[in-house]
Amino acid sequence: MLLAQKLLLLDQIYCLYDQYIGGVDSVCRAACSDCCTCNVTITTLEAHVMLNAFPADQWPRVAKVIDAQMGKPRFTPEATFNQISDLCASGREPPPEAMDASWGPCPLLTDRLCPVYAARPFGCRCMVSSTPCYQTGAAEMGELTATVNTLFLQVIEHIDQDGFSGNLSDVLSFVLAAESNVSVPSRCNHPHLISNRPLRTLMIPPEHQDRVRPILAQIRALPI
Ligand code: SF4
Ligand code: SF4
Repeated sequence: MLLAQKLLLLDQIYCLYDQYIGGVDSVCRAACSDCCTCNVTITTLEAHVMLNAFPADQWPRVAKVIDAQMGKPRFTPEATFNQISDLCASGREPPPEAMDASWGPCPLLTDRLCPVYAARPFGCRCMVSSTPCYQTGAAEMGELTATVNTLFLQVIEHIDQDGFSGNLSDVLSFVLAAESNVSVPSRCNHPHLISNRPLRTLMIPPEHQDRVRPILAQIRALPI
């Protein structure tokens, strides 16, 4: 699939998710940014959307900010969502993952605001809470929303199945290099990136299947 087709699909996926999340109880608001940590993961497709939201003359500054993150601790996933679903479907355990919110804020966060809010990746869109995180120390999210979030994450990876997933800094660094022809990017230059996979098994628990079915039908109506 061409990048332009994938970008259009991603936009449609984001619109579908907005319809769902608009009906979810949430206290999230502008400048409430405790959830904007350096541990966000994205796909290469989402990185294209984010970079396109910056004027091209700001890319060197973005590259500098991202480069500064490279030596710092951050969550680097061992498996993609579709890889985890494949492992679970075959009765195997996903690899252990380590993540610590104290590793710091998202490198893009500026004055507690996201500079590319309209183009933020799904991992940021789906972070909602029914109580302020600064009071409870963590987001409180209903189980159905967690299931719907996983569904959308699996679908986005499926659309970008010839791309990669990884920490926001690693993926942005990879796509920046590719887009600005700084160097020919290759998987071996980016050891923290993992190859995306097609969606083979949905991770929808039986108790959520009726509620998720209409959303799934909307997704299946897209030319994916
Ligand atoms: S998830 Fe938590 S920190 Fe993030 S906007 Fe919502 S309430 Fe604020
Ligand atoms: S990309 Fe934007 S919304 Fe996402 S963590 Fe970074 S600053 Fe926050």
